[in-house]
Amino acid sequence: MRVDRRRVASLAVLVSVFACTPSDMAATGGTGVAAASGALGPLHGPPYGSPRHGSPHQPRYQPGAPGIGDSDFPADGNGGYDVAHYALDIRYTPSSKQLSGLATVQATATQGLSSFHLDLAGLRVGKVTVDGAAARFSHEGDELIVTPARPIDRGAAFTTAVTYSGTPRPERDPANLGTYGFIPTDDGAFVASQPNGAKTWFPGNDHPADKATFDFTITVPEGTTAVANGEQSAAPVTSGGSTTYRWRERHPMATYLATATIGKFELRQGTTPGGVPLLAAADPRFHASLGKLYTLSGEVTDYWSEVFGPYPFSSTGGVIDDYQAGYALETQTRPLYGGFSPQDAIVAHELAHQWFGDSLSITRWKDLWLNEGFATYAEWLWAEHKGGDTADATFRAFHARPASDPIWSYPPGRARPNDLFDQSVYIRGGMTLHALRRAIGDETFFELLRTWTATHRYGNVTTDEFVALAERMSGKDLGPLFDAWLFEPRRPASPVT
Ligand SMILES: [Zn+2]
Repeated sequence: MRVDRRRVASLAVLVSVFACTPSDMAATGGTGVAAASGALGPLHGPPYGSPRHGSPHQPRYQPGAPGIGDSDFPADGNGGYDVAHYALDIRYTPSSKQLSGLATVQATATQGLSSFHLDLAGLRVGKVTVDGAAARFSHEGDELIVTPARPIDRGAAFTTAVTYSGTPRPERDPANLGTYGFIPTDDGAFVASQPNGAKTWFPGNDHPADKATFDFTITVPEGTTAVANGEQSAAPVTSGGSTTYRWRERHPMATYLATATIGKFELRQGTTPGGVPLLAAADPRFHASLGKLYTLSGEVTDYWSEVFGPYPFSSTGGVIDDYQAGYALETQTRPLYGGFSPQDAIVAHELAHQWFGDSLSITRWKDLWLNEGFATYAEWLWAEHKGGDTADATFRAFHARPASDPIWSYPPGRARPNDLFDQSVYIRGGMTLHALRRAIGDETFFELLRTWTATHRYGNVTTDEFVALAERMSGKDLGPLFDAWLFEPRRPASPVT
């Protein structure tokens, strides 16, 4: 994600207000330091927080956990299974704001399951089946709890089908996360779900630790366009006043990166100069920006493919909608720009996320700098590539911020759930990479970035893994550098003279 400058300013004001609240003081106190040093140690426990297996005293089947085990977002995601594929068949009528859907979720049980949860907010569930048999369910808050007719063995593949409908209600959190999820607009919907808004439009395991492939079947009134991730798997079909669009993202994708953005759109399709299929779309209000979005997205995709390693997906592009989100989101293969014509830096940022955030996804939200620090650093690299400020100059300008600047008191290596998108996670995260580059040299640094994206392509990553790879490839003890830049609540010394 990247917020525009106006929103950065308003968030900065809110941050200074929140700096006085007791919860924030606790987070910056001793416990914050302890958590920070722990973040450099090994990850504890299994990634999904699942219970011990094979104990003779444990029943063969147990309820799946209501959360995936991210202590900062305890209700997000779910335990006990791993989703492989979502097939989302939705119909949306902009005039009535009515959505009806059939979500088919293919998963593998990671424990014996007597019941399990899906995340779903605000919509009404009509029916649930598991492997074709009607299942019992209850919907409590944002948790849909499913009890299959027969319990599910550990390791078994199972398919859950959920029929649901209603008026989608986006999540609204103006002080921290903004408005996100399925956001109805005059002509359709703007669908940008970071961090946990996928649950506002489909039932799933709504956390980036569980990635899956997606098929979308989206039916809208004739004359309206639906743009999702990946490629169109069939030509649109119009019948009886409705048009059905089919999209497929065949590479694993985090739920928050899925989109089904609906409205009046002008499209431009082709390939990048380097040969990657390219689709740009713009609301007619942004007709004048469509050409630039198309050309720039192609140029940036090709350049990052040289710098970061091969482009991970089968198509690229972008969508400008007329919803005034005040942010852009790196929706997989097709970033969304909410209500503005994106400048170079934002396109460079969102397309860098295709490697850092989308192909390589974080395992816990606290490691968000692995997305935002890298995408911010990409903005600096792009400026230098185009003959603007060098990365050194950009770094120096940020380092010159006074000691009282909030980025020095907020260590970016531990993103806080009540201030997830703090500018430190972006700017000081980017500075961390520049400090690393100065410590290990350009050759090793860029080889490290390409090795990082190749090793963990389509997977999940942690800060510990990045630090370990950087140390292995450079042969240096980088603990003090990462500690100073990511985990200390003060301004580190500058490696740039
Ligand atoms: Zn971003």
